[in-house]
Amino acid sequence: MKGIGPARAEMLAAKGLQTVADLLYYAPFRYEDRTNVKPIAQLAPGEKASVTARVSSAKLSGFRRGALGLFEVTFKDNGSGVLLARWFHGERYVDSLTPDTRVALFGKVELDKSSGHRLMVQPEVEILSDGDEADEMLHSGRIVAVYEAAGKISTRVFRTLLDRILKEAVLPEDPLPASVRERIQLPSLGEAITQIHSPAAGTDLRLLNEFRTPAQTRLIFDEFFWLECGLALKKNKARAAEGISFTVTERARERIKQMLPFKPTGAQRRVTQEIVDAMKRPHPMNRLLQGDVGSGKTIVAAQAAVIAIENGFQVAVLAPTEILAAQHFAYFKRLLEKLGYAVGFLAGSATARDKQQIKKLVAEGLLHVVVGTHAIIQEDVSFHKLGLAIIDEQHRFGVEQRLDLMKKGSQPDVLVMSATPIPRTLALTVYGDLDISSIDEMPPGRKPVVTKHVRDAEVEGVYSFVAQQIAAGRQAYVVYPIVEETETTADIKAAEKMYLHLAEKVFPKIKVGLLHGRLSAGVKEAAMREFQEGVTKILVATTVIEVGVDVPNASVMVIEQAERFGLAQIHQLRGRVGRGSQQSYCVLVTGKLGDVARERIRTLVESNDGFYIAEMDMRLRGPGEFFGTRQSGVPGLRLANLLRDTEILEQARGEAQRLIEAKQSAELRAVVAYIQDNWQRRYGLVLVG
Ligand code: ADP
Ligand code: MG
Repeated sequence: MKGIGPARAEMLAAKGLQTVADLLYYAPFRYEDRTNVKPIAQLAPGEKASVTARVSSAKLSGFRRGALGLFEVTFKDNGSGVLLARWFHGERYVDSLTPDTRVALFGKVELDKSSGHRLMVQPEVEILSDGDEADEMLHSGRIVAVYEAAGKISTRVFRTLLDRILKEAVLPEDPLPASVRERIQLPSLGEAITQIHSPAAGTDLRLLNEFRTPAQTRLIFDEFFWLECGLALKKNKARAAEGISFTVTERARERIKQMLPFKPTGAQRRVTQEIVDAMKRPHPMNRLLQGDVGSGKTIVAAQAAVIAIENGFQVAVLAPTEILAAQHFAYFKRLLEKLGYAVGFLAGSATARDKQQIKKLVAEGLLHVVVGTHAIIQEDVSFHKLGLAIIDEQHRFGVEQRLDLMKKGSQPDVLVMSATPIPRTLALTVYGDLDISSIDEMPPGRKPVVTKHVRDAEVEGVYSFVAQQIAAGRQAYVVYPIVEETETTADIKAAEKMYLHLAEKVFPKIKVGLLHGRLSAGVKEAAMREFQEGVTKILVATTVIEVGVDVPNASVMVIEQAERFGLAQIHQLRGRVGRGSQQSYCVLVTGKLGDVARERIRTLVESNDGFYIAEMDMRLRGPGEFFGTRQSGVPGLRLANLLRDTEILEQARGEAQRLIEAKQSAELRAVVAYIQDNWQRRYGLVLVG
């Protein structure tokens, strides 16, 4: 393209912009009304306006370390008047705003009291090239689009490039099926693309900046629509694929009864039935089992395991960390060995010989259940007859891993357990291809955890409360804000130092344990076991205990530097207490808090509802952060925003389902081809076809 040489091409590529089509879809993030263009002499204080003028003189002052670099420039236009402009941190303009440079300025007009001249503080500024009238019209005198810069490619360059493309390129044909286009009543794709880059005169600026114009709505609709079509196709394909039809015999029922250590709640019975029904169907199950921490997902999964085993199949149980895998191993072993099933543990940290031994047993079908970390599936484990995979904690488990796993058996059923309740909009997009079962009821006798917020200056009071609880026979956790994967030596030192402080100074008469990710597997296991058996009364830990650890006698959790954790994460941590029938407490210790941090802590103190907390977390941090970097979250959404655009999402999803279910083969074929060519890579829809 004219205007794009190798250097610019590289900067654009770094932003994922490689084709003309990529640029067409590169939506502005903001719009400015520059219709009000006036000579300097006619600018009225208080109004927002654009002017074009030349630099007359410029001065940078206060340029010392730590001081604001104040950049003051005087502008003149054809003798009509003088305009001052000031920028704080203005160093970046020094090289470009040299005398005689022609610029367009955009901002609010004030009156400078000392000089009597008109003044703009921190105006938007764009350098104009001399004598190019057309260029000037593109950047002022209208509503202009503002783009996120790419390297040295400024918003102005983007505007020029897009103007050229819109004039010269052939816009894509509208790929939306006619029936859908008719119902949604939105502009065509070409029209929408033109409008987002170059809004027609008179377009409502407020609507533009809220992303609510028909053109923007159309592009947002498209992003959701193709995603939902892809997910629906994938789901349909999985449903049509051949899988295992499990049968539920009287004997299996008896064994389940024999295994259950307590009476399941109504919600547990309902989801178990949903899962069993899905397992009976002749197609692979792909189901998410979600429920708040402590809602009792594991026993539901164990019942599914019994059915698989009774049908002559093996079961894999996968967890994100070795500690959690070890817990699951103990739990499943306790439940299943008494039924005569063989349960094995495949630890990443085990010796090569031990691993070899377990793998051999798995391959020969001598183990009914193998429990391990997600790493199991990346290794060369082959199953004799894998029928069911139970995966704990989906938000740490990527899409590709799920696919790897499916390659291990001939279409095993997959049950994913997640304790991070997912707001509905996210569930529809991220897990749109999964069926969902939700446990919405807690086991009986639980008392909600009482959560308190305490400033770190008052932490002594918290410690004496902990001592009281221990005197009453309970146990406590003290948690430090270190995420297992990112533990640095300095962080570990801090946790170890704190551990020594607590063990030696604060609680000299109480046995205190330490648990963090850098300890060897054996030491970790010993620390867990001692706490579980009540040998240690206080466990100082990092977030390795975030998921799954189950010690019902623990009644207090103190979370230090709680402001450093995510909301959903603290809620997870808090779920480690309140598992028995006694009253439990969570104390959030923080330093001085800013507004957002205070809001977040208050959410936790006031609510015990995981869904509400997840929703707030997503609002306060944004969906990307919410999912963290380990899982891409919602791939490919550029304009669409899950918080803002829920209604459009619901509509797009409805249209996608209607289209896929109608099975109009010609339309459907066109849709599949279009998704494959345009969206498959972007959305990571590996299975579409
Ligand atoms: P999560 O959903 O967080 O994985 P778990 O499966 O670990 O929850 O269950 C939490 C605790 O509640 C465990 O100690 C479990 O034995 C117990 N539990 C689960 N269901 C029931 C029930 N119906 N009645 C009594 N206790 C239960
Ligand atoms: Mg669990």
